[in-house]
Amino acid sequence: MSFDVIVVGGGFTGMAAAAALSKTGARVQVFEAAQSTDPRFRGELIHPRGVRGLDELGLKVPLFERGGVAVTGFAVTPGAGIRPAVLPYAEEQGPGLGIDHHQMVLAMREQVAARRNVSITTGSRITEFLRDGARITGVRGEDGKTHRAELVVVADGRQSKLRGLLGIEADINLLSYTLAFGIKGDLPYGRRGHVFLGAQGPILAYPYGEGLIRFCVDVPLGAGKGRAALVKLLIEQYAPVVPASLREAMIGSLRDEPFEAIATHSISTSACAAPGVVLVGDAGGCGHPLTASGMTNAMNDVQTLGELVGRSGPSDAALSEYQRRRYDFVRMRDLFTDALYEVFRAHDTGAKALQAGVFNYWASSARSRRASMNILSGEDVRVSAFVAEYTRVFRRSAVDVLPRLVKEPRQGTAALKSLVKTSFGRMEVAAARATRRWVDRHRLDLHELP
Ligand SMILES: Cc1cc2nc3c(=O)[nH]c(=O)nc-3n(C[C@H](O)[C@H](O)[C@H](O)COP(=O)(O)OP(=O)(O)OC[C@H]3O[C@@H](n4cnc5c(N)ncnc54)[C@H](O)[C@@H]3O)c2cc1C
Repeated sequence: MSFDVIVVGGGFTGMAAAAALSKTGARVQVFEAAQSTDPRFRGELIHPRGVRGLDELGLKVPLFERGGVAVTGFAVTPGAGIRPAVLPYAEEQGPGLGIDHHQMVLAMREQVAARRNVSITTGSRITEFLRDGARITGVRGEDGKTHRAELVVVADGRQSKLRGLLGIEADINLLSYTLAFGIKGDLPYGRRGHVFLGAQGPILAYPYGEGLIRFCVDVPLGAGKGRAALVKLLIEQYAPVVPASLREAMIGSLRDEPFEAIATHSISTSACAAPGVVLVGDAGGCGHPLTASGMTNAMNDVQTLGELVGRSGPSDAALSEYQRRRYDFVRMRDLFTDALYEVFRAHDTGAKALQAGVFNYWASSARSRRASMNILSGEDVRVSAFVAEYTRVFRRSAVDVLPRLVKEPRQGTAALKSLVKTSFGRMEVAAARATRRWVDRHRLDLHELP
């Protein structure tokens, strides 16, 4: 089959999309706005499902050769000095990957540019779409040049300007800020994503190279402005929950090295396909980075798209099926990410009780740890699995709270009320998402261009 594709954005998703579409035989042209990589901090930890996707596109080995390290699961510590709950990936799922984001994108670009039917142009920002009636037929760059293609793949990230030009609505919520910085050393519980709780927001730390640890610290909105205030906050309130073996290096890095502050959002879109055009990766929506889901979701997007247009070309039917399958995959993952962030942040009594219930549940069996990990890493995206797990955690949380009703009736009642409110609030969202997912599943129409 022969058709032309334009990919807008040469980040992780754009490169994976170019690799997946070039496999179908399509001629692919990528336009990337930055001269090199986008300098902003982006994700570096990829779950096994995403790594298997990279492997299918011939991109896994080059990323390990570029300094990436295998990651074997997560270790979540509820507070200072407490042993973590260890949630391993199942062996048959293969390893996850931790790698410096910019090195990853550069390695992907080298690999993808070497394919005979792919061409990558950097320093080229796309600013407009070309249309023929209700169909997108190409793009126009900042330099005024026009380019035509049968399919335009929009991979310009979560702040996507092109999404707005298509008239696609996005529900954008600013959640918090992430402060990202690196230190040298090894994590205490092996090559896992480590989550440290007990401060104002969760801390995610993971290996991103041999002897290199990245910290992503979640800081509430309004926590303090300017470098000095943030450094003080992190040293006084976050460093105490980090294991002693890492604390000194963390404080040293905060005092002496630059760090990046990035706004975190949850973004959900009303549509991700219109005639001649699709949104992939963060342009189609994203959640809080705590669950390291973005790139695994993006791999699902590009593999689904590659499979569908590889079979029948970029027809309306193929794009509509892409939209249906994409939402089927991401709707529950986004919900799980929101729920876990709420529980880990534990900003009210109900969320605190749920957090205790989660650790209690994980301590109960290897099955419970595996089930949660399968949801976290995108191996299990069934609504029923999420609801069943949430109900089990709720039961454990209630068992913790009920004895307090007898000992301290006032506080116990308040805790129970808060637990029920938080849990039912979440279940309400789950029901709304499940309905939305059901509607998406049966929705065959493409977005109509304005
Ligand atoms: C703080 C933080 C931590 C994260 N941690 C993780 C993690 O551990 N694991 C995980 O899986 N995900 C994580 N994520 C999410 C992950 O970074 C994203 O899912 C991933 O980067 C999405 O890639 P993308 O290519 O869709 O978007 P981006 O990485 O944003 O890339 C978009 C690209 O498009 C280019 N571009 C933009 N506009 C135009 C235009 N008009 N014309 C041409 N080019 C354009 C940009 O220059 C950029 O190169 C994290 C995100 C954040 C913010």
